[in-house]
Amino acid sequence: MDGAMIRPRPVARLARGMPASDGAGVKLNRVIGTPQLADVDPFLMLDEFRSDDAADYIAGFPDHPHRGFETVTYMLAGRMRHGDNKGHTGRLEAGSVQWMTAGRGIVHSEMPEQENGLMQGFQLWVNLPAKDKMVAPRYQEIPPAEIPVASLPGGVSVKVIAGRVGDAKGPIEGIATDPILLDLAIPAGARVALPLPQGHSAFLYVFDGEAAIGEAATRVPHGSIAVLGEGDGVVVAAPGAATRVLLAAGRPLNEPVARYGPFVMNTADEIRQAILDFQLGRF
Ligand code: FE
Repeated sequence: MDGAMIRPRPVARLARGMPASDGAGVKLNRVIGTPQLADVDPFLMLDEFRSDDAADYIAGFPDHPHRGFETVTYMLAGRMRHGDNKGHTGRLEAGSVQWMTAGRGIVHSEMPEQENGLMQGFQLWVNLPAKDKMVAPRYQEIPPAEIPVASLPGGVSVKVIAGRVGDAKGPIEGIATDPILLDLAIPAGARVALPLPQGHSAFLYVFDGEAAIGEAATRVPHGSIAVLGEGDGVVVAAPGAATRVLLAAGRPLNEPVARYGPFVMNTADEIRQAILDFQLGRF
């Protein structure tokens, strides 16, 4: 894990999120899945929700279906209640992660369990390979105490949700795209170097402060996403204030994507089948 050994990836692309509304009217910042950045294969969508105005989140996400991919919810503040038609229920509290493999079909709801105060977190959509799109649904819920934190030089701390940083191994395993998902907290003036598998797609989203990435120290402001180019690691510095970064990497699928709302398949025929199956109550 010596940063001097890695060939850091440069920033290949920079984009800003855009305001969006989803569910029953939850206001959020859409970072992936926009006209500017349709996807970062295998990542199909990244939404950031962050508001202390209940009107922005109170309507929640009532019952809705998914097929063909995985939804990941990472809570930073607030509480959400999850329920689905496969019998899973859960309370997502600050610091917890829900990794739901929709597979052949699931109907679920995610509703806020608070009427005021800050609600903050992310939802990430991770695609499934064609051979796994119709697997049985799977639900993993990880409480905050089970997400290890790697303490690195300079006061950097890394919450490891998926993947490995030194001895800290993320609790999410057995996912088709071998994802890495990290929450980095970098004190002002500090710098961190981490290896990343060659060939994985990778991005960083800056949600506090400002980051400087790669040997070129490309500035990535708060609210922006940096899609990384080729290399075998990443170097992130916080040149100004303390900085928080969500880092995700995954094996790209390089398969056709047919996408309609909450269904993500490979062909238009499979999308038509998904709509029909949902309407017939086959989820
Ligand atoms: Fe959902």
